[in-house]
Formats: sequence, C-alpha cells, structure tokens
Amino acid sequence: PTVVEMQLNDMVEEIVGLSSQRARFANVQVETELADDLPTIAASPSEMQQVLLNLVNNAVDAMEKEGGTLTITTRRDRDDVLMTVADTGCGIPRANIQRLFDPFFTTKPVGKGTGLGLSIIYGIINKMKGEISVNSAVDMGTAFTVRIPSAASAQ
Ligand code: ADP
Ligand code: MG
Repeated sequence: PTVVEMQLNDMVEEIVGLSSQRARFANVQVETELADDLPTIAASPSEMQQVLLNLVNNAVDAMEKEGGTLTITTRRDRDDVLMTVADTGCGIPRANIQRLFDPFFTTKPVGKGTGLGLSIIYGIINKMKGEISVNSAVDMGTAFTVRIPSAASAQ
C-alpha cells in the first residue's frame, strides 16, 4: 500500500461522514474533538480508513441496543499523534481483553463478526511503529487509543 503524508483529522472527518447513517439508525451521537496542532503522519490512506472504520463499527455495534455516544478525539503528544475512539456501549469483560487482537476472536453471532478487525488494525499500527491500547468497563464503555509517530519523526 502506498504511504503518503496525511492529516489524520481529515480521515476522521471522512469516516464520520461515512458512518453517520448507521450511527443515526443506532441512536448513536457522534462527537469529535480534533486537535488543531496535529502533526501529519506517514500512512496508507486505505489502511488508515480500515483502522478507523473498524474501530467505529465496533463502537456502534457495542451501542446498538441502547444507543449512546461515540467520541473521536485526536491530540498531539510530543512527536506522536494520539487518537481515541470511545463509546458508551456494553464494554468488554476483563477475561476477553487479552484475546481482543487475536485473529478470529469474536463475541458476535456468525455472519455478524469475523473477529479479524482488531487483528488487522494491530498489524497496520504495528507496521507504522505505533501502538494500540484499550480501556474498558462492562456496561460503561470502551476506549481504544492509537499512538502513531508523526511523519517528521518517522523519517
Ligand atoms: P468483530 O468485530 O468481527 O467481532 P474485532 O476484531 O473487530 O472482530 O473485535 C473482536 C471482539 O472485540 C468483538 O467481537 C467484541 O467482543 C470486542 N470488541 C471490540 N471492540 C469493542 C467495543 N468497542 N465494545 C465492546 N466490545 C468490543
Ligand atoms: Mg470489528
């Protein structure tokens, strides 16, 4: 995949646009808090799209029953870009946390989930020398945070 210098905020706006219908149907309110001093990253646009779309779809899945709020935040941390995708959904039981990024791990019914989303995300972020972490509480919600080196520092 072709790596280009890109602004993650633009990608967030794009994915929010693509997801707005589904979010509305699921009674999910989408909020963004985007840093105005965010450095660019060196990434494949199609891969970053996959990362965001997978995280957003997982978040909406987690809120499908009762609705809720999806918040996407970006901020700068020194030479890194941080992005958090947070939901107020069902949360993740402690016992599942260490298996989340395993290929084919899913708690969704057959036909609804492949269990590949987070393992693909992990591979993409890892290749960029980034990190992904998760914070979750059952019945409270979940936040995935992605750290990606800025384009300038990745050179
Ligand atoms: P899939 O979505 O196909 O099940 P993923 O790799 O995207 O596969 O996610 C694996 C599992 O992690 C999900 O089945 C679900 O149990 C859990 N999960 C991921 N994101 C969330 C979230 N935001 N809230 C609750 N559970 C989640
Ligand atoms: Mg998924």
